[in-house]
Amino acid sequence: MSQPETAADRLSAIHARMAHIAKIAGRNPADVVLIAISKKHSADAIRPMIAAGQRVFGENRVQEAADKWPELLAETPDISLHLVGQLQSNKAEEAVALFDVIHSVDRPSLVTALARAQQKLGKRPGCYIQVNIGGEVQKGGCTVADLPGLLGLTKEAKLDVVGLMAVPPAAIEAAPFFALLAKLARDHGLAGLSMGMSDDFETAVMLGATHIRIGSALFGSRG
Ligand SMILES: *Cc1c(COP(=O)(O)O)cnc(C)c1O
Repeated sequence: MSQPETAADRLSAIHARMAHIAKIAGRNPADVVLIAISKKHSADAIRPMIAAGQRVFGENRVQEAADKWPELLAETPDISLHLVGQLQSNKAEEAVALFDVIHSVDRPSLVTALARAQQKLGKRPGCYIQVNIGGEVQKGGCTVADLPGLLGLTKEAKLDVVGLMAVPPAAIEAAPFFALLAKLARDHGLAGLSMGMSDDFETAVMLGATHIRIGSALFGSRG
């Protein structure tokens, strides 16, 4: 696929594809939030996307985000920053301080660490429970079987859980996994569905994604 040249071109191309597929699905494109995943790209590479109007960004590592985002946030305070990668419990406080939304809550020890961090900092980020929707050993996320128990713990801990997140298995059709995640969210009365990346976001929007996480289609390859 050839890539349009400027950040603004790439951004408007994704918005056009989102709008097209949302219309087919009978959805309002405004109900789908585009998270620009800027991991492995420098502050200088991110600035053109901010200049093009993008305000929601995602990173997958706390340390990398802490190195480059404070200066960008100082320049453009109305940015919403999302953590989409695995989070170690000992980084929970740093994550709560920096991020508005955390997409990777997946185990009891992390729920406890986040609860402590948000109480200490007086800040309550939105949280997604990450589900290991394909049952893959190497992936983060709670199992489908563990989801109800983990949701119970987040309630006791007073986390602000807004939805479910998943990364389906690579190289096989993602649709059944997106459909399963959507069903689980419905079953638990959760409105947020963080699913869909550069290669499969149209399928995800068709199946109800409220937040899509787009990296390479906006920023180019990460090398
Ligand atoms: C890197 C990443 C993305 C973006 O992937 P692309 O294929 O580059 O769009 C989305 N979600 C998560 C969790 C990621 O780590």
